[in-house]
Amino acid sequence: MRTERLVPLALPRGQKLHCELCLGPATLRCGGCGVTYYCDVEHQNADWVSVHEKICQLLIPLRTALPFYNSEKERKHGQEQKICREKFLAEVTRTAAQNFLFEGKHEDAIPAALHSLKFSISVYGSNSVELVPAYLILAEASLGLGHLAQGEEYLSQAHWIVLKSSYCSSAVQSNLHRNLGLLHAAKGNFEDALYHLANDVYFASCAYGTNDVAVSGGHFHMANIFVHQNVLDVANSLYSEVVEIWLRHLGHLIDIHFQAFMNPAELDVLSDEEEPLKETLDEKQRAEATQMLNAILDFRERSPRPQPAKLAKVLHALAMLHYLTQDMSKAHELVTKVQQITQQLPKYTPDESFYHLIKLMKSKPIYAK
Ligand SMILES: [Zn+2]
Ligand SMILES: [Zn+2]
Repeated sequence: MRTERLVPLALPRGQKLHCELCLGPATLRCGGCGVTYYCDVEHQNADWVSVHEKICQLLIPLRTALPFYNSEKERKHGQEQKICREKFLAEVTRTAAQNFLFEGKHEDAIPAALHSLKFSISVYGSNSVELVPAYLILAEASLGLGHLAQGEEYLSQAHWIVLKSSYCSSAVQSNLHRNLGLLHAAKGNFEDALYHLANDVYFASCAYGTNDVAVSGGHFHMANIFVHQNVLDVANSLYSEVVEIWLRHLGHLIDIHFQAFMNPAELDVLSDEEEPLKETLDEKQRAEATQMLNAILDFRERSPRPQPAKLAKVLHALAMLHYLTQDMSKAHELVTKVQQITQQLPKYTPDESFYHLIKLMKSKPIYAK
């Protein structure tokens, strides 16, 4: 509750002010900035938690009436400043919304994403491709909350803008198709879902390269649909693809830790400029890897036809993930499982990163954060 920041409104007759969130008639004003209004305490709180706390003071120069301009030059300068401020606010609010999504806080993401959309419209107009990221965050948050109709509406806005625009980056297209795929899957339209997810994979490959972890999500969601349709051999090979992508990525990070462990002196020389250990998992990758690899482990463990080598690979990837997120006891448990499986598979040799992982775990918990 942020009641100390609330000021009841005594409006001059005839003046109408609108709630920042729902555009309904306002009864309260934010005491922090004095330029933001709300219909009730609930909307004030929702906005504060989502993003207003971050932008409260930034809104003052934007929303106080423009000073009197002496010349055309001054007026132009004032206008440029306004656009600059709005661009900045569109970015700050979009980042805040995106971070809530990474944390799975769909509800908190929505007010921030709505503000980002509003600032973007003010700067770029209502048909610009610059609006698509905000629409996609709103769609993903709505779908996450189970509000399919609302999510679909945001997605069709985004889709429409992309179709009409001459250029849209592959990264944004990938994100659009991922969300369209998930929407259709949630509605049970599996053919459409597969079409969009295949597009997601295609655009993600264009944007980041075929081996990048950004490509794994499309494969993973397609595999889930094939499991649902009981087309298990296709699901199986798609899951394998996902595991290979993560094995490469996590193995690469483990190798960086291993090199740093083997040559600490060299690292000290390098660290001033290159800081090699900065390369690590971000919030989003961590959440995605955890979700995908655990689901695939579950699928492999429950499979009526055991495939021990494939099981060992998922466990290996998860062990590296837990090591990198500093959950040492879980990493130990998984490494032991991989060793038990591979002892019975004389022809199977785990990737080198597995031995690096064991050496790292025997030496010390983790080289650096
Ligand atoms: Zn309201
Ligand atoms: Zn405020």
